[in-house]
Amino acid sequence: MKEVIIATFNQGKVKEFEQMFGEYGISVKSLKDFEDQIDVEETGETFEENALLKAETISKRWNVPVIADDSGLQVDILDGRPGIYSARYAGEDKNDKKNSEKLLKELGQTTVKDRTARFVCVIAVAVPGEESFTKRGTCEGAIALQPRGEHGFGYDPIFIPEGYKKTMAQLTAEEKNSISHRHHALLKIEEWLKEKGD
Ligand code: IMP
Repeated sequence: MKEVIIATFNQGKVKEFEQMFGEYGISVKSLKDFEDQIDVEETGETFEENALLKAETISKRWNVPVIADDSGLQVDILDGRPGIYSARYAGEDKNDKKNSEKLLKELGQTTVKDRTARFVCVIAVAVPGEESFTKRGTCEGAIALQPRGEHGFGYDPIFIPEGYKKTMAQLTAEEKNSISHRHHALLKIEEWLKEKGD
């Protein structure tokens, strides 16, 4: 395998993959590099189903190796919500600020110890002629009482990673990348890359 397509338009995600895959002599392209765009509807009921749906649909269409990820936030006291609906929790316009506001409102006055939560990232790998698979990474933490910090995106301003007093949005990009759910899922993909050799 010499090249893999990352099924995203997010350059931050592409960079993380590029660094790791480069070490194994594999180059990375993103959906931005293609004119023929495929809109894959996320109709699955789990992170795994949605990540596989994206990776396999694109891999089959172009007959190339594809990696896709699906991620979100699970809050225990809300039975795992917003979960796979994290991006559009407050509506279809995918507004990060409104999503966090809705979540904080739902949690009301619950104390931080009752606000345990985790970020989840599932990465799916689809290679033509091979069986597809997924790997899951998590980052445990709790939901803050109010938003703090300017870095990151999504729910970062209201998520306090376990062992920290700051929110994810108060950490530097390097700090976040060393503990994030995406990083943990990527490490599992690296194990697969090592096993696969070249
Ligand atoms: P997607 O997997 O890129 O579609 O992301 C799903 C949604 O989960 C995002 O829109 C965010 O709301 C949330 N999310 C996923 N990863 C993170 C993260 O690292 N920080 C904050 N929010 C995240």
